Amino acid sequence: MMRGFIALGSNLGERAAHLGEALKLMSSGGLTVVTASHLYESAPEEVDEKQDSYLNMVVEFTFEGGVFELLDRCQEIERSLGRIRPYPHAPRTMDIDILLIEGTEFMDERLKVPHPRLEQRAFVMYPLAEIAPDLILPSGRTAAQVKKSLRNDEIRMIPGG
Ligand code: ADP
Ligand code: MG
Repeated sequence: MMRGFIALGSNLGERAAHLGEALKLMSSGGLTVVTASHLYESAPEEVDEKQDSYLNMVVEFTFEGGVFELLDRCQEIERSLGRIRPYPHAPRTMDIDILLIEGTEFMDERLKVPHPRLEQRAFVMYPLAEIAPDLILPSGRTAAQVKKSLRNDEIRMIPGG
């Protein structure tokens, strides 16, 4: 059985409802959500145009299957929530990124794990450090240490979310 962490984000339409729906869809077919973080709101990064803010969260998962099956499942869930890809960094109803898989490194066009920008992204590190503060990341630092090193002025936890 595989274990790891997945990031979910939405910045289009009913963002919190999309995340709730994605969690429901994730909890079937050998995929289990073990722990889910709160929701975190942040301004879009890596984009020039005006876009709605994001809601992001991170979950710890287990999965009975291979890495590409897991990627297929994640993309299937994105599609069922209406995700289209008109251009890079376009607003999206649902983005599901595989962050880490325990004991696994994968550097392929279709799948890069650990996710290459994991430790630079506050919107990933805040929820990840919430549910797994002592997790050792590729840099050798813990999630809590990496979180502390990032700018935090554009991200806030949604209480109860
Ligand atoms: P982004 O998440 O970078 O904004 P997309 O969600 O459109 O962009 O994903 C683009 C491609 O990234 C996907 O088709 C997928 O094959 C690939 N990819 C590579 N590594 C990963 C990963 N760790 N998790 C999810 N997708 C990944
Ligand atoms: Mg993605």
